[in-house]
Amino acid sequence: MTFTVAIVGRPNVGKSTLFNRLAGRRLAIVHDMPGVTRDRREAAASLLGMEFRVIDTAGFEDAHDESIEARMRYQTDTAVAEADVVLMLIDARAGVTPLDAHFADYLRKQKTPVILVANKCEGKAGAPGMYESYGLGLGEPVPFSAEHGEGLAELFDALRPHAEAAGALDFDDDEEDDFFAADPVDDEEIETEDRPERPLQLVIVGRPNVGKSTLVNRLLGQDRMLTGPEAGLTRDAISVDWQHRDRGIRLVDTAGLRKRANIEDPVEKLSASNTLEAIRMAEVVVLVMDSAAILDKQDLTIARMVVEEGRSLVIAINKWDAVEKPQEALQRLADRLETSLPMVRGLPTVTISALTGRGVDKMMDAVLAVHKTWNRRIPTSQLNRWLEDVLSHHPPPAMPGGRRLKIRYMTQIKARPPTFVIFASKPEQLPESYSRYLINGLRENFKMAGVPMRLYVRGGR
Ligand code: GDP
Ligand code: GDP
Repeated sequence: MTFTVAIVGRPNVGKSTLFNRLAGRRLAIVHDMPGVTRDRREAAASLLGMEFRVIDTAGFEDAHDESIEARMRYQTDTAVAEADVVLMLIDARAGVTPLDAHFADYLRKQKTPVILVANKCEGKAGAPGMYESYGLGLGEPVPFSAEHGEGLAELFDALRPHAEAAGALDFDDDEEDDFFAADPVDDEEIETEDRPERPLQLVIVGRPNVGKSTLVNRLLGQDRMLTGPEAGLTRDAISVDWQHRDRGIRLVDTAGLRKRANIEDPVEKLSASNTLEAIRMAEVVVLVMDSAAILDKQDLTIARMVVEEGRSLVIAINKWDAVEKPQEALQRLADRLETSLPMVRGLPTVTISALTGRGVDKMMDAVLAVHKTWNRRIPTSQLNRWLEDVLSHHPPPAMPGGRRLKIRYMTQIKARPPTFVIFASKPEQLPESYSRYLINGLRENFKMAGVPMRLYVRGGR
């Protein structure tokens, strides 16, 4: 059964870019100018293994005789009627425009369900526009970046119930039950969002010669399936699936794997853009280091990239078999972590030998654990109970004039990474140090060591 997704929105919000990403091929030329001619296109698409048909509605711009709205309406009408679900895109950097509101009004009157996608959300410039888009009345926006491939997992989550309703997803329920039985949630009040049916996307990065290929071979043994690119991955990415403790793992690699898989490959170089590209495909990144040079400058640069991209990180210190004074090396590592990566306390760190296999299982356990934390959702009631407690003991500093800034409410808007919003009377006056204090408190209280976390402060409410 085919599941159909239509992409709609005003010109220049990134519809074609999203379409291309989902279709996984360069089917259309993306221009920087609104009004460039394109035809309505559709294609077979997939997103993290979910298969569907996607319809793009860009292309009404060549209207000469009719108003843009009329043409847009026609394109949209047709697509919406055919679709099981509509992705309505906005440009979060530009904020909500009257034309966006016009679209939203129209879509709210249709029967087809709508998912609001706040595109161009990479970095921080999209955050205000994303919040503004709550006002469109289409529910919670999915923060997304079509250009950078961010938010794919969130989009998957948003699409999944619709795909299921359309009968397009055939998950094995028994398997799911087994997984939960084997892995009870220990704190029953804290929900975790685990999707055992979807492989955990793992990427291994590190400087040349630290032992990445050796580690990959160790993890995979010999006879694994190398699979080709799929939508959502870059064109020359390769992925390999296997199981660790009954959990599906998908290792995604752009270059390192192919080196050993004897697929034609030019000499691999660690370039910042390669690494960044790899990181963006990951849910969990394992950063491999050589025990002889723990956390050098390049390692730190990579670690920071992972944190900035909001991915979860596991640090693997390799070649531990060759270390003569392990205690000293461990101490050095701990010191370095504390001084160089203070923004992520409690990063999971494992010592391994890719050569002998020692520690590799433990490393994979750390990967599963951090992934679980990264997926966690904390109920709003718990957050606010905690917040009240914090505010009564450690209120934000008084502002000039002696008035106190009021913090009213807190909620987690998404997981992967855990992202929180607090509502305050004068958001711009909340000191950075207090935000940091809140994040560290959250981390400690809700046991979220080691994952990047985000906190936005917003006015109102
Ligand atoms: P369409 O008219 O809605 O189909 O929009 P396009 O896909 O042609 O994109 C319009 C412009 O926005 C192009 O310059 C894209 O490169 C840019 N764009 C698309 N997605 C993103 C994104 O996620 N972030 C940023 N910063 N720019 C994007
Ligand atoms: P990559 O460039 O990061 O993929 O690194 P390789 O996997 O090619 O390994 C670089 C060198 O380090 C090779 O000579 C490996 O044999 C060696 N090496 C990898 N892992 C270990 C290890 O755990 N212990 C020791 N002693 N050497 C290792």
